[in-house]
Amino acid sequence: MTELPIVQTIVPVTHDLGDFRVHRALPSRDRTMVGPFIFFDQAGPAKLEQGQGIDVRPHPHINLATVTYMFEGSFLHRDSLGSCQLIEPGAVNLMTAGSGIVHSERSPDEDRAKAAKLSAIQTWLALPDGQEEMDPAFEHVPETALPVVEAHRARARVIMGSLWGETAPVTTYANTIYADISLQPGAAIPIDSDAEERGIYLAGGDAALDNLRLSPMTLYVLRPGLGATLRSVDGGRVMLCGGEAFSTPRHVWWNFVSSSKDRIKAASEDWTAGRFEKIPGDAEEFIPIPKGTPKTVSYP
Ligand code: MN
Repeated sequence: MTELPIVQTIVPVTHDLGDFRVHRALPSRDRTMVGPFIFFDQAGPAKLEQGQGIDVRPHPHINLATVTYMFEGSFLHRDSLGSCQLIEPGAVNLMTAGSGIVHSERSPDEDRAKAAKLSAIQTWLALPDGQEEMDPAFEHVPETALPVVEAHRARARVIMGSLWGETAPVTTYANTIYADISLQPGAAIPIDSDAEERGIYLAGGDAALDNLRLSPMTLYVLRPGLGATLRSVDGGRVMLCGGEAFSTPRHVWWNFVSSSKDRIKAASEDWTAGRFEKIPGDAEEFIPIPKGTPKTVSYP
């Protein structure tokens, strides 16, 4: 009997934030990580009216790296290192929290001046053992610097790691694969088996893996070591994510990820006491630590 290429199906939890919705596939009840990916969110798609904008106020992170990737619209990123960077579709923002960083993400004024669309994939990568407390860093890689591979009626932008012989220039800490794959009608492309853990997420349109039809906004964990063919009838957009399996577990609470629960507790106390660095130009507002029964994660 042929082995099925999918070992786990993760239906995201949807949070309604008023102006837009976020669909969170990771962490989920049944699985925390796929390779280094420990948080996988699709924000939107949403339509913001003139005068509306998204304001993710200053909040802290530790022991992880965040990867912001826009489908539509833009965000202005600011952080406690002094970075101030507009991100637009096709580019990558990699923010390494390491020992601690504070950032905000807000709609730029030019988007608020008109009706604007917003759709993005926000992921967090856990940092490997021994690198969790590295110095914080911020890296912006523009769309033009990311390799694009076109074959078999598909067009893949390599965001992190290597795919089909092309390697993205974005920094990685653990072995990582992350790609944005646009499928034209009739596409049929091989998904290699080289990454230890792999996930496929259908962001829009239709797609099937071998003969299994995929549901939108759902994360499918692929069978390790087994190649498969990704197809589309009418066209679709798929994110491929994964990389090396971590040998030690990670804990997630609010905006913190760490191999140590005590470290997360210390970070919470530091945030409550105002001991994190401030963001130049965005030092007034902040997101407080959630009170009461803490959610595993709350959207910033
Ligand atoms: Mn954040």
